[in-house]
Amino acid sequence: MTSAILPTYARTDFAFERGDGAWLTTTDGERYLDFGGGIAVSCLGHSHPRLVKALTEQAAKLWHTSNLYRIPEGERLAERLADLTFADLTFFTNSGAEALECSIKMARKYHSANGHPERYRIITFQGAFHGRTLATIAAGGNQKYLDGFGPEMPGFDHIAFGDSDLLKATIGPETAAILIEPIQGEGGIRPVPHQALREMRALCDAHGLLLILDEVQCGVGRSGKLFAHEWAGITPDIMAIAKGIGGGFPLGACLATAEAAKGMTAGTHGSTYGGNPLAMACGNAVLDEVATPEFLAHVQKTALVLKQRLAELKDRHGGLIEEIRGTGLMLGLKMLVPNTELVNAARAEHLLTVGAGDNVVRLVPPLTIGDSEITEMFERLDRACARVEASQAAARPSAAE
Ligand SMILES: *Cc1c(COP(=O)(O)O)cnc(C)c1O
Repeated sequence: MTSAILPTYARTDFAFERGDGAWLTTTDGERYLDFGGGIAVSCLGHSHPRLVKALTEQAAKLWHTSNLYRIPEGERLAERLADLTFADLTFFTNSGAEALECSIKMARKYHSANGHPERYRIITFQGAFHGRTLATIAAGGNQKYLDGFGPEMPGFDHIAFGDSDLLKATIGPETAAILIEPIQGEGGIRPVPHQALREMRALCDAHGLLLILDEVQCGVGRSGKLFAHEWAGITPDIMAIAKGIGGGFPLGACLATAEAAKGMTAGTHGSTYGGNPLAMACGNAVLDEVATPEFLAHVQKTALVLKQRLAELKDRHGGLIEEIRGTGLMLGLKMLVPNTELVNAARAEHLLTVGAGDNVVRLVPPLTIGDSEITEMFERLDRACARVEASQAAARPSAAE
């Protein structure tokens, strides 16, 4: 497989031509059940009629004007996000990493505007993933992503996940904010205990820090609430979202309270494409579907059924699966064998999943799946586990030898 594309991805050697709901069809006409959802992006599945209509109608009218002018659909989307969340203000981006960049700049600017430019450091957590820009690889602190790219951008203190004494000890006179994913995605579907999030909120309040949540992966209905922090009963000061909000169209956003955003005045930040009419049409259409009590109740109910089936799978294949973890339709199988073995075996059964850190197989399907997709998923994953077991048995020397 050679191509003129920069070889930064380890791609599987096939391509999809079309999609319909939770199903994808390859260029060879083979159908796959998509429990990867384009890495937790395709929240309404593929070719959702409302999204297709919103995008094509907008495409026939106007694609792009730049942020030199008002964009009414963007004002409407920001207004709706403000009504639905803690936030007063939204900045639109084209990706998750850019939403984090805006969040990081905003937190630093807030303290600078308060007369404390020395408060620029942000506390982040091991196993975190915040994107691939120079600032967000520094925020994530994963050495694999930092190696060879020159001096690491200063200003981040990485600490162990789940150590509240260490967190308290790390807060200093230069600390500006705490940045955390309420459910770590790339790190291996690791939910932050609700009590720990509440403690962070209290610590931020006590020390004048901003709480920044990265809900790029766990937001927009994926957890069964519109945003995952709602489960803990807290609100952040700043939140980065992306993935699901565009339903497959590149769209991200940085949401904030008016107080946290007070330094972000005219000219302090920008993006040529950010919030363009095509993206705004898609974002509004996604919210039309996802931000209803019925839709979120469906996600919670589906998640319960899926989790029960996965527990059954673990019982049937206890030698492969150590643990089922996650919230809503953001679930992970912590594996006892290399996670890639199950990802590959599932693909051989025409089921798409995604690997994650901590040796986890991620299931992040469209939020629109129902019982029939879950049954199909179970049967395919069950056969995939049997494949892995068979290959293990073949590799093991027999007791008689
Ligand atoms: C995917 C992801 C990002 C980065 O988003 P991009 O759109 O790839 O830049 C940041 N944070 C989290 C939690 C993510 O899952």
